[in-house]
Amino acid sequence: MHSKVVIIGSGPAGLTAAIYAARANLEPLVVRGLQPGGLIATTSEVENYPGFVEAVGGFDLADNMEKQAARFGAQFMDAIIERVDLSERPFKLYTDSNELITADSLIVSTGASPRKLGVPGEETLANRGVSYCATCDGFFFRNKKAVVVGGGNSALDEGLFLTRYVTDLTIIHRRDSLRADPVLQERAFSNPKVRFIWDSTVDAILGEDKVTGVRVRNLKTGEESILDTDGVFPYIGHIPNTWLFQGTLDLDENGYILADERTRTKIPGVFAAGDVVDHVYRQAVTAAGDGCKAAMEAVWFLSEQEHATQQAELRSEVVLALV
Ligand code: NAP
Repeated sequence: MHSKVVIIGSGPAGLTAAIYAARANLEPLVVRGLQPGGLIATTSEVENYPGFVEAVGGFDLADNMEKQAARFGAQFMDAIIERVDLSERPFKLYTDSNELITADSLIVSTGASPRKLGVPGEETLANRGVSYCATCDGFFFRNKKAVVVGGGNSALDEGLFLTRYVTDLTIIHRRDSLRADPVLQERAFSNPKVRFIWDSTVDAILGEDKVTGVRVRNLKTGEESILDTDGVFPYIGHIPNTWLFQGTLDLDENGYILADERTRTKIPGVFAAGDVVDHVYRQAVTAAGDGCKAAMEAVWFLSEQEHATQQAELRSEVVLALV
């Protein structure tokens, strides 16, 4: 399989890149990856994406972007890229079913994944009360208790979503003030179902077959306590999905791809967009903007390549004619 533009990842960055590349008649191939639609598709409501007066569901937003790209001729593939060879063009990408895709240009928009707490019980009780997606799993916690860990926008946004179902929600945060936007803080503080445990971490998730509680440690006093709960939702940030490019592209100390302001990586023809490069803004709209830039760069890159090839062919024709 060959494409002029392959896009790895299908969040707002990848899908916007697909819209732009498809409108340039490049028939981009989008490899959807582990999380079709990206993290935004697991977000309950998006209130700050321009153009929507009312909140739009994260899944619907991503789904619309995909349909928009498909309308202009983007192709989609459900696969995970497991290995890349970017040493020469066309680039070689190998899928999880060992299929080879070749690409004249590549847009990396593999996003970021939720950071794990890394405490006992987290892995063994995953999907048995431990979840990283309130939007997907909130319904299973109807009339139950839940804990959210973190103090950022995700913790509050998703926590507030959970209050539709749970009887009470405890937000456990390692400091005594929140990082989340004031509008979310106000909503959380005024929600009667929400209470906070400050200056504390979750040191263990308890339960045999399902979550029954968490062990909480106060970081100031060292005091430990057990809190009964049916669910634990860690929202403590993200880790960029860049393992595929270790040793190939330049990464910063936190694993984010280093690209210039035009989304260009150190390899000509390879562009990076969205949460995989951005550890500052990490918004759907900034990711979409990045995706737009990456696609335009790919279009320019490909036409330069085409022009260079034509020039070379012309030169060799002239040489042949002269011989
Ligand atoms: P974030 O802003 O990085 O917040 C992570 C939170 O987890 C912080 O409160 C942090 O504590 C805490 N934390 C980090 N490591 C921890 C650990 N090991 N143990 C306990 N707590 C830990 O991440 P996010 O909330 O996922 O948001 C990511 C980006 O998406 C942000 O730019 C955010 O604005 C955006 N976002 C926006 C919306 C929206 O606009 N509605 C919704 C969701 C996400 P400290 O505060 O002490 O560092």
